[in-house]
Amino acid sequence: MAAAASIPIMPEARFALNQRRQASQFAELFDLLDAVKDPEIPVLSIWDLGILQDVALDADGRVEVTITPTYSGCPAMAQIAEDIITCLADAGYATVDVTQRLTPAWTTDWIDASTRKRLREYGIAGPDSAACPQCGSSDTSVISEFGSTSCKALLKCNSCLEPFDQFKRL
Ligand SMILES: [Zn+2]
Repeated sequence: MAAAASIPIMPEARFALNQRRQASQFAELFDLLDAVKDPEIPVLSIWDLGILQDVALDADGRVEVTITPTYSGCPAMAQIAEDIITCLADAGYATVDVTQRLTPAWTTDWIDASTRKRLREYGIAGPDSAACPQCGSSDTSVISEFGSTSCKALLKCNSCLEPFDQFKRL
């Protein structure tokens, strides 16, 4: 098994994100949005992946949701915005604006260790390790810098011969 000892369980950027949610007066909205999954990785929510950045509700009942795409021009963002609006509409919030924030840019430091583990279980190597998510072998090679999407690279395991995606370190 490849070691990933240099990666902290909770990167500082993720810690700050968690604190923002804990301090938010709109915790209920964050909780509702846990139901919105990443269209490309349905086992993980947009919160898990650090795409969901902030939620606010104004006096008129208008919700503003701030998201940061994993990379600029990510095609999944339109689907995610639609899913956010549907999710909140189902809970009675009729007016929802989804704003994309590009600065600071999305970083893999917004993905904590437990989410990286769930990524591996789903068959995608995390940004900290090129080990094969199927058999754990660290004998792997990069086939292409672009996997199923631009935020992932395509690798191949030289032990079990399975190809797999790896989240690029950003
Ligand atoms: Zn393998």
